[in-house]
Order: sequence, then structure tokens, then C-alpha cells
Amino acid sequence: MSSGLSSMNIPAYLLEKGIKPSVTRVKIFEYLAAHTLHPTVEEIYKELLEELPTLSKTTVYNTLKLFSEVGVVRTIMIDDNEARFEVAVDSHGHFKCDRCGRIYDLDVIVQLEQPKELEGCIVREQNIYFKGLCKDCSDRDK
Ligand SMILES: [Zn+2]
Ligand SMILES: [Zn+2]
Repeated sequence: MSSGLSSMNIPAYLLEKGIKPSVTRVKIFEYLAAHTLHPTVEEIYKELLEELPTLSKTTVYNTLKLFSEVGVVRTIMIDDNEARFEVAVDSHGHFKCDRCGRIYDLDVIVQLEQPKELEGCIVREQNIYFKGLCKDCSDRDK
């Protein structure tokens, strides 16, 4: 994850992307910027509930959907059960360990040559997912 997130003026950034920076939206974005371990809707909701007692899970979900549509947040569908989210500051791949469930960021440039079938389409995102056993878990097998 690139630096610069902590010094980011979130309300101004959201506004620049055409999103009205309500308190809830700013808090959710702030949380994602500070927690780069790909939280789920459930995790974000639980963490912010204390600060935002009127928050609902639907609001978290809808906010993330909006962020995703505008391209400021990336939805990671590596998990079979749950979507995970992160601030889309750079392009990288993901590896999920089948055993411990950790999701690692990979420093791969996700920029394949655009296939000609996509000519005329507007591509919003590309994803590279790897799955298997992480080093910790595979070492444990030895
Ligand atoms: Zn593992
Ligand atoms: Zn990531």
C-alpha cells in the first residue's frame, strides 16, 4: 500500500471524485485507509459502531458500493463468502491462504494488454488473485 494515505485530505478527495463527504462516508474511508488488511462489511461496521452509533450495516454496504463504483475503493472477491474492501490507491494482486485465511497484497502490476474483445468497453478494474497455502502454513506441514 502506498504512503500518503495518512496525510490525505479525505473530504477534499471524495469531493473531487464527486462524492458528498458526509461524516459517515469520511469515517468509512478513513477506516479503510488506516486498515489495509482488507476488512469485510461486518468488520468495518463493528469497528465504527462505537464512533457512529446510528450506523447500519446497510449504510456501510451502500457506501462501499458507491466508493467502488467511483473507483476510490476496490472490492476484492477472493473470498468465497464475503467481499473485502480496500482503498484503491495502486494496482496490486492478492493471495489468499486457504488455511489461515490471510489475504496478502502482491506487488504485481495489474496491467495486461487489453484484449480486443474489450474494444470500446470501459474497464474499471482488473484483478489478479492467487490462492493456496501461505509460507507460514506450508512451513508448518514440514
Ligand atoms: Zn496461511
Ligand atoms: Zn490489497
